[in-house]
Amino acid sequence: LVSRMRAFGTTIFAEMSALAVRTGSINLGQGFPDTDGPAAMLDRAVEAIAAGANQYPPGPGVPDLRHAVSEHRSAHYGLDYDPDGEVLVTVGATEAIAASVLALCEAGDEVIAFEPYYDSYAASIALSGARLVAVTLRPADGRFTFDPDELRAAVTPRTRAILVNSPHNPTGTVFTRAELAVIAELCQERDLIAITDEVYEHLTFDGVEHIPLATFPGMRERTVMISSAGKTFSVTGWKTGWVCAPPPLVGAVQTVKQFLTFTASAPWQLAVTYGLRHELDWVAALRSGLQDKRDRLMEGLTSAGFEVFRPSGTYFVQTDIRPLGFTDGLELTRKLPALAGVVAIPTQVFYDHPERGAHFVRFAFCKKDEVIDEAVARLKRLP
Ligand code: PMP
Ligand code: GLN
Repeated sequence: LVSRMRAFGTTIFAEMSALAVRTGSINLGQGFPDTDGPAAMLDRAVEAIAAGANQYPPGPGVPDLRHAVSEHRSAHYGLDYDPDGEVLVTVGATEAIAASVLALCEAGDEVIAFEPYYDSYAASIALSGARLVAVTLRPADGRFTFDPDELRAAVTPRTRAILVNSPHNPTGTVFTRAELAVIAELCQERDLIAITDEVYEHLTFDGVEHIPLATFPGMRERTVMISSAGKTFSVTGWKTGWVCAPPPLVGAVQTVKQFLTFTASAPWQLAVTYGLRHELDWVAALRSGLQDKRDRLMEGLTSAGFEVFRPSGTYFVQTDIRPLGFTDGLELTRKLPALAGVVAIPTQVFYDHPERGAHFVRFAFCKKDEVIDEAVARLKRLP
């Protein structure tokens, strides 16, 4: 393995899901739903295969999907992207993030990301030879947020880009207009590119709305906006994502993307096109169902003795394990199958400063009610 990848072993998601299978534990670790996406959309994928959509689609993506993505951005956010030249279909958001970093960051450049961060950011940045500079999100008034001065101080003459994930995995924070304004201002002052990971754009709660950074004045031209179908339509295995950005940015990303995967799978693209055009009511129901599940898991974890942070978005509840007498989340999550028959994710692995997140553990609530209830019942028996 090349030296720049040696720090990256097996992802925590693979480790913990394997642990769940091996021990027969309830898996509240890796974030994937245990129910399917909209039936009519699933049918469209089957029909697409039967109808012969089985050869390479165009590199930038099936034109119909690019149109559907463009219409969706316009209807939801008032952002207009030309389906021919400003939209690129990728193999999930993961490829979009990797291709964006590889296309836009030189070796030696610095890329800012908020820690705890989604694990692929550090690996993609390392592959590019750039350097991740982490700005820490800390709990304040029950939600994780950043200190604007700390963010400003993290920018140096080498800073090329900032990776912004909102709704944020793993903390559940949805950045407010004021927080995003700080980021937008800084991007313009210091001429930074924003790479935004918006895969949970539709999964927000309590009436909180996701605001894309690209909607801020002066930001569309410097933002690479990324999302995917996995979370919106409960099809994480379909790995269908997209990038929206002005031609110079999307063109750069496409140049890299064509040599990573050339193109993304055809049948899913056709089905997701249908989803974006016809299944947004289904998504609204998913969102309100998830809000109930969030409340259910929060209540359960609280009664099991965890300190719980209320997420405004995503699939995840962040907890502090210290009230239970534990201090190290990695140690606890590795023991949790034996102690309680439950798997969770140690948040510290998403930090450059692991000590800042040592006592946090993430639980996923995108699960059937009975699965959540059984996990809570088991956790209540923790010694
Ligand atoms: N970004 C974040 C914040 C995620 O949680 C995930 C996992 N779904 C991804 C990106 C990857 O998305 P995809 O499965 O579309 O590659
Ligand atoms: N996004 C999901 C999570 O955070 C799964 C990611 C993965 O398995 N790579 O749990």
